[in-house]
Amino acid sequence: NLKIGVVGMPNVGKSTFFNAITKSAASAENYPFCTIDPEESRVAVPDPRFDWLCETYKPASKVPAYLTVIDIAGLVKGAATGAGLGNNFLSHIRAVDAIFHVVRAFSEEDVIHVEGELDPIRDLEIIHNELRLKDEEFLTKKIEELSKVTARVGKGGSAADKAKKEELEITQKVLKIITEDNKDVRKGDWNNKEVEIINSLLLLTAKPVIYLVNLSEKDYIRKKNKWLPKIKAWIDENNPGDLLLPFSASFESQLSALSTKEEKEKFMTEKDAQSALPRIIVAGYQSLQLMYFFTCGPDEVRAWTIRKHTKAPKAAGVIHSDFEKGFILVDIMRFNDLKEHGSESAVKAAGKYIQKGKEYIFEDGDIAYFRSGL
Ligand code: GDP
Repeated sequence: NLKIGVVGMPNVGKSTFFNAITKSAASAENYPFCTIDPEESRVAVPDPRFDWLCETYKPASKVPAYLTVIDIAGLVKGAATGAGLGNNFLSHIRAVDAIFHVVRAFSEEDVIHVEGELDPIRDLEIIHNELRLKDEEFLTKKIEELSKVTARVGKGGSAADKAKKEELEITQKVLKIITEDNKDVRKGDWNNKEVEIINSLLLLTAKPVIYLVNLSEKDYIRKKNKWLPKIKAWIDENNPGDLLLPFSASFESQLSALSTKEEKEKFMTEKDAQSALPRIIVAGYQSLQLMYFFTCGPDEVRAWTIRKHTKAPKAAGVIHSDFEKGFILVDIMRFNDLKEHGSESAVKAAGKYIQKGKEYIFEDGDIAYFRSGL
């Protein structure tokens, strides 16, 4: 179960964002398993295809895909150490698979900034450096350990010894990216073997990051803020390719406090702005390299989360382990074909309901019907 964590300086709006996302998830629809914990929230991934399938099949049960969001601010506040960017904070980041990095770009006299003046670039640098330093420290220790092990081995050595040597070389190369190239690990160009080692190290700067820039409500609505171009430039320079999404925690917080869909629509029309949460949730889910396929019927329309590039038997195994063992064939419909033709039988008649075997790699939004040999 992959998770995305909310990270940032104190008082930038992390908890406000987390609460808004949790509330909007809880009130959106009565989905099952929407358990909510003070630090962990399971948020339905919005998808018009899922909504369309539910309208079409009118199933008894609807289960969307979920994004699990962790409020690291909450975890840190509860920790005995108290202090902002302590070790505790960093160890909680180690446990998540991707990061929502919240950056404050609203100036509010009443809300004190821990570093004094509002300066999102300084804030970005602080967090960024903390994460890198922690990786540097971790890699240095790892290299010491591995060096001791490999030093004992002479020339030649067993396969296990060679593997250790390779691990040492890769670990050294990873450290170099941070200290010499001044890059985050995720921005390196790695081969499969290197990726395997990097994944086992759980490095902080290897995790995908989405920058969420918290604007005042006014700036969010008028889509203008003097810091935005500077933040964009900082990302382009330091972590090119990372996503920047502006939002307003205060806008989302007011919106999430409304209970009905009608009230929300009215609020957004009056303010002349839409919620940024759907885009943020989808981006978070995608950053984890996840996708889903659907199963549809009168009982249930359901989205099943799988990793990208998953083959058919493994995808079947997400539904039930017996499905993986007994996998024979899967019938696949593309969502767009179903939407165009209107019904399963029409898709079949058009020859677009296709049988696939064990080598089939699932595509996002496939509608699947498994035939098992059991
Ligand atoms: P955290 O420490 O990063 O979790 O920050 P909080 O979410 O607790 O927010 C710190 C303070 O900033 C609170 O008083 C919030 O009400 C306020 N705040 C958060 N987001 C916004 C915003 O978008 N606009 C304004 N004006 N205040 C905000």
